[in-house]
Formats: sequence, C-alpha cells, structure tokens
Amino acid sequence: MGPVLDGLVKLQSVENRLRAAKAKLARCRRSVIIQENQIRSLQNAFEAKKEEIQLTKIQSDRLELELKIRDDQIARLRASLNTAKTNKEYAALLTQLNTTKADNSKNETQILDLLKDIEADEDECEKIQNQIDQQKQTLEQTRKEAEILATKYEAQIEEIQIEWNQVAQAIPADPLEIFKRVAETYDGEALAVVDRQGVKTEVYACGGCFMSITAESVNLLMTKDDIIRCANCTRILVLGSEENI
Ligand SMILES: [Zn+2]
Repeated sequence: MGPVLDGLVKLQSVENRLRAAKAKLARCRRSVIIQENQIRSLQNAFEAKKEEIQLTKIQSDRLELELKIRDDQIARLRASLNTAKTNKEYAALLTQLNTTKADNSKNETQILDLLKDIEADEDECEKIQNQIDQQKQTLEQTRKEAEILATKYEAQIEEIQIEWNQVAQAIPADPLEIFKRVAETYDGEALAVVDRQGVKTEVYACGGCFMSITAESVNLLMTKDDIIRCANCTRILVLGSEENI
C-alpha cells in the first residue's frame, strides 16, 4: 500500500468520527421529537375523553328530559285517578301510573350511572392534563439540554469536517469519489481490511462481507497503491497493519 491507500485509511478513521458525531447530533434532536410526540398523543387522549364526556352529557340530558315529561304524565295520571268514574277506569289508570313510575325510576338509575361515568372521565381528564403539564416541563428541560448538546456536536462536526477535507485533499479525485460512493452505501464504512484465514495459510477474506479474496489481490495490495475492491461487496480493500509491514 502506498500514499493513496494510506490516505484512505486515514480518511476512514476521520469519516468514522464524523459519522459518530452526526449520529449523536441526530440522537439528541430525536429525544426532543420523541417527547413532543408523547405530549401530542396525551393531548389526543385528552381531547377524546372530553368528547366522550360531551356525548355522555347529551345522553344524560336526553334522559333528564324524558324524566321530566314522565313526571308531568305522573301528575296528570294522579289527577285523573281522583276523577275516575269506574273501578275499571281507576285500575287502568293505576297500572299506567305504576308503569310510568317504574320507567322513571329506571331512568333515574341510568342518569346516575351516566353522571358517575362523567365524573370518572373528568378525573381521567385531570390526570391526563397533569401528565401533559409534567411532560411539558420535562420537554422544556430536554430541549434546553439538547440545544446545548447540539451546539457542542455541531462544533465537533465542523472541526472533524475540516480535518476530513484536509485528509481528502491528499487523495486523488477518483479514489476519493469511490470512497464517498461506497461510504454512502455502507453507512460510512468504505474500507474493508483483508483478513488472513489462519496464520500460515494464503487464504484471505474481505473484513466487510467475509467473502474470500484472491491471493493475487492481496499481492497487489502489498506491492502497489491501487484501489482494489471486494468483488462481492465493492468495499475498498486495505491490508491490516500486520500485512502492511
Ligand atoms: Zn466484501
């Protein structure tokens, strides 16, 4: 290996640091987004509960109205009882009165149940609201911390990028292009170190995909400064420090 491949090895190490710093930056920004999403889903739950309460109220109002109408009916039936002319008429009115009363008491139970539901839902709403308030405080804290961290990581990235550019300047355009392309494919991992399979054997494998590499390729790497890529994964092959000496 010569200056080109050595340069690529150096570039790979800077590339790794650059990617790691970028990943940290993305992670700290993601922590804010995750919390924002949590708050949003709590707010949705809150809205859904409120709507549920609204619907229950409509239902209980309707029952209240029915109750009032029946109360009027009961008053009227009671008055009619007093003016009933025959026993048969009296008995019929009495039956109607009792049925209406029974309906009303059923109605009252239903209303009570609905009111209990509303109360439970309102408690639930309050709980969710508390959670939202708490989460918002946590979010504020996270946001502040993330901003500080992001500034730090951005400065690091800028510094490493300068270093990257400097190292890249020493590498000819074509190998540099190949490096960039392969790095994009393998999340920054453009180079693969050739692995020797056992100490004394002449069998080699690509350290990236573990497919075998011909001894001829290894020979070229030892004697020349050419870009040789793994036939399988296309990573740029380099020798480990052991073979390099
Ligand atoms: Zn490979």
